Amino acid sequence: MKHVVVSPHFDDAIGSCGATISRLRRHDEEVVVQTIFGGTPSPPYSEFALRLHAVWGSADFPVPTRLEEDKRACAVLGCAHGSLGILEGLYRNSAEGAHLYPDEPSLFGPIASEDHDLHVVTSRELAGGAAISDLCFYVPLGVGHHVDHVIAFRMGLEWARLGYSVWFYRDFFYTDWDCPHFGGHRGRALVQRLPAIDLEQKVKAFLHYRSQIRMLFGDAASAVSYFAGANPRRGRSHFQEVFWQLDRISPDAGSRKVFSPGLGHRDSRADHPAK
Ligand SMILES: [Zn+2]
Repeated sequence: MKHVVVSPHFDDAIGSCGATISRLRRHDEEVVVQTIFGGTPSPPYSEFALRLHAVWGSADFPVPTRLEEDKRACAVLGCAHGSLGILEGLYRNSAEGAHLYPDEPSLFGPIASEDHDLHVVTSRELAGGAAISDLCFYVPLGVGHHVDHVIAFRMGLEWARLGYSVWFYRDFFYTDWDCPHFGGHRGRALVQRLPAIDLEQKVKAFLHYRSQIRMLFGDAASAVSYFAGANPRRGRSHFQEVFWQLDRISPDAGSRKVFSPGLGHRDSRADHPAK
């Protein structure tokens, strides 16, 4: 079985579940980190995109830099990597050329009507007609509700509907769990306990995402402390990453509170879903 870890952007999969990828690879499992929104944009960029380019220190061509960072990070963990080449939200335009998400509030707001079917197209492309038993998908919960993460979340729902194994991971860095897209779902958390070696590998891999470290953490030392403190298991030499399975409970239920960073629905099973 191949483990497909879906990464909306180049750093999401490893930042969120890099230690689990490390563990899977130590057990010789086949893993691919598949970035969805890794397309190369071209000007004109929005003012918002130009400001972010300046923070990333990547001039007008951020994607080659980020692709190279991703290649190096995946090499640390020994996993394959791929990119669907779709433009990220920051760069997607309407047919008339208007920026779909021209500022920060829109990038974390509702999905534009032009993107409503994107998850169906991309999930079909990634599954490629593979048998249900051949693939296991890991997708973000979309905590923080960045539109690209929510589209990846919808891809997960689509694969689950088709019968594939799907595990939803908690998006690293983001903290806002008040997500409208959780409505109608109930989540059950599974805790993946991981030895220190896997956390070390995750951090070593993540440090290759230099352009993002500057924006998210300021410097490498702060990134290291963030990951060390993100999911410690008190008093033990283990760390944890948490995955969720989702049940659909009703189409329109206001049930977003069933998810919580406090793991209110923690399951007693501790093993990795795939092992
Ligand atoms: Zn992202």
